[in-house]
Amino acid sequence: MVYQYQPLNLVEFFAAFPTEEACEYHLIRVRWPEGMVCNGCGGKDFYRRIRTRRVYQCRYCRHLTSPTAGTILHKTRTSLQRWFLALFLIASDKRGCSALLLSKQIGVDYDTAWAMLHRIRHAMATRDVQYKLSGLIEMDEMFIGAPTEGKKRGRGTEQTPVLVAVSFFTGKRGGEYMGFAAMRVVGQIDTTTVVAFAKEAIEPGSRVRTDGLSVYPALEKHGFLHDPNPVRRRKAHTVLPHVHTFVSNLRAFVLGTYHGLGEKHLQQYLDEFCYRFNRRRHHDELFDRLLLACLEKDEMPLSVLTR
Ligand SMILES: [Zn+2]
Repeated sequence: MVYQYQPLNLVEFFAAFPTEEACEYHLIRVRWPEGMVCNGCGGKDFYRRIRTRRVYQCRYCRHLTSPTAGTILHKTRTSLQRWFLALFLIASDKRGCSALLLSKQIGVDYDTAWAMLHRIRHAMATRDVQYKLSGLIEMDEMFIGAPTEGKKRGRGTEQTPVLVAVSFFTGKRGGEYMGFAAMRVVGQIDTTTVVAFAKEAIEPGSRVRTDGLSVYPALEKHGFLHDPNPVRRRKAHTVLPHVHTFVSNLRAFVLGTYHGLGEKHLQQYLDEFCYRFNRRRHHDELFDRLLLACLEKDEMPLSVLTR
C-alpha cells in the first residue's frame, strides 16, 4: 500500500471527504497508487466521460473504465461518501457496528445497511484467507448459540460447533503472546472437519497444541505436529490459555454488539471478529486497510451473500 490516509475523528473525516468527488479521487489513489490504468490498452490518460456516472474514457482507445469495477462497491446505489463513512465507523469502534446503528448513522434503511455490512465482512474474510497461521498453534472447539433443550450436542449445551485456532509465540522472558486467529463454523466436530480446517488455516509443519480430544491426533497424518495437552485434573483454561482468552473476548463481543447470532450468518460475524483481532496492533490503519480490502474483492452479488 503506497498511499495512506487515516482520518482520526469525524471532523477530520468530513474535512478529508467533503464530496463524492473527494471520495472517488481517494478511492482511485488507493486502488491505483501509480495512476488509474485503462482496461483496454493500459494507458493512463482519461477523459471524464459522464458526470453522473463513475466512468472514465481512455484518451487513446476510448475504452470506458470505472474505478469501482470488479469490487463490492460497483453498481452500488449508495453514495461513496456513505460507504466511506460506514468504513470509518466500523474501523473506529473496536466492537464493530450493528446494521441498525449503521442505518441510523449514515441515513440509509436497515436492509441497505445490513447488505453493506455483509459485503464488508465478506471483504474482510477474503483478505484473511490469504494468510495462514504458523509456528505454535492452539486449537480447540466451541459451541455458539442458544441452549438446545432436551438434547445435548457435542460437549456443551449450545448449538453450533466452531473450530478455533490461535497462534502464539514465546517472548524473551519465556512468556507466551497471542499472534493471529482463525475460526470456522462446522457441521460437527470430527476428524474430517478438524483436518479440513487445519489445512485451510494453518501452515503445514506447525505444532498444534490441543486438549487431546480423540479427533485431534489425526493432524499428525496430515503434516502437522500434534501436542496433546489433556485437561485431566487441571483447570480447563490452563490447558489452552490463548484459545481460552480469545474465546472469552469473542463471547463479550458477540453478546455486546450483536445480541446473539443466527447460525446462518455466524461465520461472517466470526470473520469480522478475527479480522479485527488479527489487526489489533494496526488499529490506526484500519480505515484504509478496510477500503483496500473492499477494492480488492471481486464483485459479490447480494444473492450469493444471503444464501
Ligand atoms: Zn485505453
